[in-house]
Amino acid sequence: MRLVLLGPPGAGKGTQATRIARRFSIPHLSTGDMLREAVASGTLLGLRAKDIMARGELVPDEIVIAVVADRIDHGDAENGFVLDGFPRTVPQAEALDRELAVRGIRLDAGLELEVNEDVLLVRIRGRAEQAANQGQSVRHDDNPEVFETRLRAYRANRPRHRILRVTRT
Ligand code: AMP
Repeated sequence: MRLVLLGPPGAGKGTQATRIARRFSIPHLSTGDMLREAVASGTLLGLRAKDIMARGELVPDEIVIAVVADRIDHGDAENGFVLDGFPRTVPQAEALDRELAVRGIRLDAGLELEVNEDVLLVRIRGRAEQAANQGQSVRHDDNPEVFETRLRAYRANRPRHRILRVTRT
């Protein structure tokens, strides 16, 4: 089962992807998580992504595409995966098409979560408060100001068309 999960920040992609991954015994591949890990471990990739992520902007396509292309070749993704947060732009969707085609595989479905934007803002505030209350670290980009930028980046770049085309193949 190969799936992509799309939707605005705060829509619950991570939560749903975790459930789907468990249900189908496939890895949950979140580009946000991969980038945050790279930032935390101070790799070259992390250094390039850190400030961009802190501002809530999108990391350049070629970087994210390379990360995903490498990750889907890991053994655990051989029988499927659920991609969370990728593709986020048309060039990423086109690259995913190409990367899958050269491997002779294709997506089974693309799911887009739609959530009212006012509800998203309430959720983002709640997510930050909940993490703080539980003594967990709060994501630097989970605050209302950066969230606005993330939402704008989502709206401006989302590859809706391409995904619909991909899922029909
Ligand atoms: P997320 O955890 O999916 O909300 O992603 C957190 C941040 O990582 C985003 O605001 C972007 O800066 C970056 N990011 C994650 N996935 C992508 C992507 N597919 N393309 C560009 N930037 C990304």
